[in-house]
Amino acid sequence: LKIEKPRGTRDFLPDEAERRRGIEQVMREIAESYGYREVSTPTFEHLTLFTIKSGEDIVKEIYAFKDKSGRELALRPELTAPVMRMFVNECSVMPKPLRFYYFANCFRYENPQKGRYREFWQFGVELIGSDSYLADLEVIVLAYNIMRNLNLDFILNIGHVGLLRKLLEDVDEVRYHRIMRMIDKKDLQGLERYLNSEGLEGYLESINELIRLKGGTEIIDHAREIIPDFDFSHLQNLCKGLEKLQIDYNLDFSIVRGLDYYTGVVFEAFAKKGLGAQNQICGGGSYRLSHLFGGSDVPSTGFAFGFDRIAEICEIEPRAIESILVASTAGMELKALEIAEKLRKLSKRVLTDVMERNLKKQLSFANSIGARFAVIVAEKEFKEGKVILRDLEKGEQVVIRIGDLLKRLNREL
Ligand code: ATP
Ligand code: MG
Repeated sequence: LKIEKPRGTRDFLPDEAERRRGIEQVMREIAESYGYREVSTPTFEHLTLFTIKSGEDIVKEIYAFKDKSGRELALRPELTAPVMRMFVNECSVMPKPLRFYYFANCFRYENPQKGRYREFWQFGVELIGSDSYLADLEVIVLAYNIMRNLNLDFILNIGHVGLLRKLLEDVDEVRYHRIMRMIDKKDLQGLERYLNSEGLEGYLESINELIRLKGGTEIIDHAREIIPDFDFSHLQNLCKGLEKLQIDYNLDFSIVRGLDYYTGVVFEAFAKKGLGAQNQICGGGSYRLSHLFGGSDVPSTGFAFGFDRIAEICEIEPRAIESILVASTAGMELKALEIAEKLRKLSKRVLTDVMERNLKKQLSFANSIGARFAVIVAEKEFKEGKVILRDLEKGEQVVIRIGDLLKRLNREL
């Protein structure tokens, strides 16, 4: 009986796990350089946390289950709601703004395909407590700089859900979200049919005009013609800041995001190649959630990277770490262990034999794993306080004092 992994999940062997760790490390370091600090929340939460306002898609895809006491729980499909729940429960009196980042696995019952899994990882940030354009600016710049540092080839599109909200202010919540969802899915035929069937056909033209606007800041003037009483100053200030910081972006008023809780600026980044249809690698925006979880109404901005999609296209390789095998002749095993312990100061991979193999087999294993050096602990040399240091790449060896070994390897590696 062979047990396979569940559909939509993956195993990561060391090469891939290390590569992913290297990418994660870049994300962490840059987020920390902006003052963001890591938070960690439970893998499962009460189901209601995700059904209050996450939108139809997420609810449809949720991994929900009852525990043995009948509690309705769910594996987290994303981390914004959990972080805001944590904020309301634990952090609401902390000085604002709060800058949090997370790196964690998420679960969605999706149709698995390239770039779409049932267990996947998100790296994201939440900047809590400000509704200034400066907060949006910081979060967008952070996302942008991480993607640049990872050498990703991407485009960044920025919109503002406030525009459609304003345009549709007389439409009730339920219809508003239906309309937004169809715009998110780019289902324009469905949208037309829906508006007609609900007696909302009067909105069709202005919606279509608005969501077709894409480009530089000049489209703000066009949008103003469609929605004259919307205050564009936040968006204009943001654009000014982005230009000042030389961020390459497009305005795109069709971005509404799949989740229902966004209220202001929204943005998405797309990989230009390598991912096919699943090419959205980042989504974010400003939102209000905390009042839904029993807190006061605190404005926040955040984003989440689709870590697996980024890992798929990111070409950075983690620094290779050399291996050293400390081999031993019969009876010298524990001496080899002692020497190996000392060599572990080098921050390399220091291995010893655990198979009770003879020396020849130990050395052939060292070769098979691509070890750079073998230290051979043999009785004769050891009696003189020495070991054999073999350079497996050059095929040369020297007899060296045990006391000099660490220094020598440090110089060589
Ligand atoms: P999509 O439209 O691709 O389904 P989404 O709108 O559901 O994305 P978000 O909820 O905004 O995605 O999640 C943020 C990011 O997480 C996405 O931009 C994407 O890169 C990534 N992501 C979402 N779902 C998955 C998944 N099932 N597998 C891998 N990555 C995912
Ligand atoms: Mg989705």
